Amino acid sequence: MADIRVMRESFLPPKSPPRRHLLSIRDLSRDDVDRLLATARSFERSLEREVKKLPTLRGRTVVNLFFESSTRTSSSFELAAKRLSADTMSIKAAGSSVDKGESLKDTALTLGAYDPDVIVIRHPQIGAPQLVARVTEAHIVNAGDGKHQHPTQALLDLYTIAAEFGRIDGLHVAIVGDVLHSRVARSDVQALTLMGARVTLVGPPTLVPRGIEALGCEVATEIDAIKSADVVYVLRMQHERMQEGANFVPSLREYAARWGITPERLRPGQKVMHPGPMNRGVEIDPRVADAQDALIETQVRAGLVVRMAVLYDLLTHGPVAVAAAAATPLEVA
Ligand code: ASP
Repeated sequence: MADIRVMRESFLPPKSPPRRHLLSIRDLSRDDVDRLLATARSFERSLEREVKKLPTLRGRTVVNLFFESSTRTSSSFELAAKRLSADTMSIKAAGSSVDKGESLKDTALTLGAYDPDVIVIRHPQIGAPQLVARVTEAHIVNAGDGKHQHPTQALLDLYTIAAEFGRIDGLHVAIVGDVLHSRVARSDVQALTLMGARVTLVGPPTLVPRGIEALGCEVATEIDAIKSADVVYVLRMQHERMQEGANFVPSLREYAARWGITPERLRPGQKVMHPGPMNRGVEIDPRVADAQDALIETQVRAGLVVRMAVLYDLLTHGPVAVAAAAATPLEVA
C-alpha cells in the first residue's frame, strides 16, 4: 500500500506576502508611523536635488480615483507617484462613466483590468475603499471615505508637527470646529494619541459627536480650551455633509464670532494648522491663516513627501530600505 504522509508546512512553497492597504490609521502601529515618517524625511531630502525624480517605482501603475472634490490630496498623490517614476492615471467622477450611472464595483473592476499596483480612492461613502480592495488585486489607499477616515492627512499632520517641535509625544493639540462631519478629526485623534500626544476636541455641542471621548481624547465646549494647546488645529465647516434644514449653528456669522480662530484667541507662539480648503472669515480669521505661526503651507509640502512614503511603503515588502531608496538618483532621464 502506498505510503501517504502529511507534508509539513515548511516543505510547502513560500506564500506570497499579504497584500497591504492603508485604509485607516487603525491599520498602523507606532513603529509603522515612525517608519513612514522617516521614509518621508528621506524623500524630502531627495527633493532638494535639482533632478527631483527617483526611479524607485518605475514600471508600477498608480490609479487615482476621486469621487469627491479635491485639490491638495489628488494633486499630491499624482505628483508623488510621478516623482517616484510610476505611471499614473487620474480619474474624476465628473466626466467619467460614473456620470452615466456606473456602480463603484463596476468602475473598480474596469480599472482593475489594467492591473494597477495601487488604487488611491476618495469617495463620499464610508467603506468604499474596502469594496475596491475586495474586487481588485491592487494595494488600496483611502484618500477620504465620507466622514470616516483620511489616513494620509493624519500622517502629513504628524509629519508637520514633528518637523516643527522635534517630537509629538507629550504635546497638546486642540482640534476645533465641525468635528461631527470630519474624517480629518477622527484620523488625527487616532494618529496623535497613538504617538503620545494629548488631544482636546473643541466645538459647539451640536458639532461634537457624543461619546467621541472613547477614542482617547478630551472634549471641551468653550473656545477658551484652546489656550493651553501647543497646536490649534482648525477644521472646515463642512456644509456639503450637513443635512439640508439641519441647524448645527445659528448662522455662520455667529459661528465665526463664537468659535472662529482670531489672533485675539491665540497665545503668542501657538501653532495653527488647517487641512484645507479654508473658509476664511468663518472658522479661521485671514490674519491667523497668513501669520508666521500658521503651518498650513508646510502641511501641503508634507503631503507630497508623506504620500511618496506611503506609495513606496506599500509597494516594497519587509523592512523599508529608506536611505537606499532616496539615495538612488534617476539613471535615465
Ligand atoms: N480636505 C480635507 C478632507 O478631504 C478636509 C476638508 O475637506 O475639510 O477631508
